[in-house]
Amino acid sequence: MVDPSSGGAHAEAAQLQARKRLVYLVALAGGVAIFLLSWSIRGPGDPFLAYLYPLFAALLAGLWLTLWRRPDWLARLEPWMLALVAAIVLSRLAWHFHAGGSLDDRLLVLAGGHYWAVGIVILAAFVMLDHRAGLRAGLAILIVASLIALAGVIGEALDGTLATETAVYLLRVHLFLGVLLVLASIATSMRDTVKDALVRSEAMARAARTDPLTGLANRRAAEAFLDRQAAAVARYGHPVAVIGMDIDHFKAVNDAHGHACGDAVIEGVARRLEANLREPDFVARWGGEEFLIVAPETSAHEAQQLAERCRAALASEPIAGVPVTGSFGITVFRAGDTLDDVLGRADNLMYAAKAAGRDRVLVE
Ligand code: GH3
Ligand code: MG
Ligand code: MG
Repeated sequence: MVDPSSGGAHAEAAQLQARKRLVYLVALAGGVAIFLLSWSIRGPGDPFLAYLYPLFAALLAGLWLTLWRRPDWLARLEPWMLALVAAIVLSRLAWHFHAGGSLDDRLLVLAGGHYWAVGIVILAAFVMLDHRAGLRAGLAILIVASLIALAGVIGEALDGTLATETAVYLLRVHLFLGVLLVLASIATSMRDTVKDALVRSEAMARAARTDPLTGLANRRAAEAFLDRQAAAVARYGHPVAVIGMDIDHFKAVNDAHGHACGDAVIEGVARRLEANLREPDFVARWGGEEFLIVAPETSAHEAQQLAERCRAALASEPIAGVPVTGSFGITVFRAGDTLDDVLGRADNLMYAAKAAGRDRVLVE
C-alpha cells in the first residue's frame, strides 16, 4: 500500500531539485557570458581570464552535470561550490586592489563589476545554505572583502595618495553589502521558518492518519479512503472490494506470550498483508487486531484470490514465534450502499468465517 501523502512530499522535493538545477544552469550560463564579454574587452593578457576562469568554469560545469544525475549529492556539494566561487571572486577583488595603479582609477571596475560579484556570492550563500550557515558564510565573505579593501586603502593612505572620495565610495559599497546581508538573512530566516512549519504540519497530518504500532493507515484514514471510493463507485460504477480481517484466537496469544508479543504479532501481520497486496490496494489497521483491505477495480472473485493469498501468507509460517491465522470476509460496493452497509456485510462475513472454523475466506 502506498501512503498517498508521501507522494506529494517526494514530488515537491523533486520539483525543488529541478528548480535548483535550473538556477545553477542560468548562473553558469550568465557566468560564461560575463567571461566572454570580459575576454572581448580585456583580451587574453589577463591571467584570470586566460587561465583561472576557464578552469573554474569547467569545474563548476562538471559539478553541475554530475548533480543533474545525482541530486542527492547536491546538498553535500553546495558548500564546496560556494567556497569555490567565493574564492574566485575574492581573489579577483584582491588582485584588483593590489595589482598596481591607483584605487581612484580602478574604482569603476571594482564597484561596477567586482563588488557586484561579491554581493551575488553573499546572496548565493543564503540560497544554497540554511539560515545559520548562510549567515556565517555571508559574514565571512563580507569580512574578507572588507579586509581586502582596508588593506588597499591603508596602503594608499600611507603613500598619501588616497582621495577622500574614493574612501567614502568604498565605505558606501560596504554598507550596501552589509544591508544586503541583513535583508538576505531576514528573508532566509522567514523561508526556513515557513519550511519548518510546513514540515511539522505535514508530520502532524501524517501522524493523524497513521497507526503508530504498524505504520499502516488508521481507521480515520480508512474511512476517508472508503468515502472517496464510494464516491467513485457512485460516479463510475467500477467494482471496489472491501475485505475485513480479524486475527484468530488473538486473546490466547496475549495470554500465553504477553502483550508485547501480541503487539509484535500485529505488526508482523501488517507486514505480511502489505507484502501480498498490489499497488492500488489499501490496507488499514481498523482496530485492535482487525484489519481492513480496500481493493479498487476489483471484483468479488478477484478479491477472493487476493484474500486467499493473504490468508495463506499468514498461515505459512509463525509470526514472532507464534502460529497465526486470520478470518476474512469479503464484499463489494453496491449501488446505494452507505459505508455502514458495506462494512456491516464484510464484518458479518468475517464472523461467519470464524463460525465456520476460522483461517478461511468467505465472500458474499
Ligand atoms: P477470535 O478468533 O474470535 O477473533 O478470537 P480473539 O481471541 O481474537 O477475539 P477478539 O478478536 O475479540 O480478541 C481481541 C483481543 O485482541 C482482545 C485484546 O486484548 C487484544 N488486543 C486488541 N488490541 C491489541 C493490541 O494493540 N495489542 C495487543 N497485544 N492486543 C490487543
Ligand atoms: Mg477482534
Ligand atoms: Mg480476533
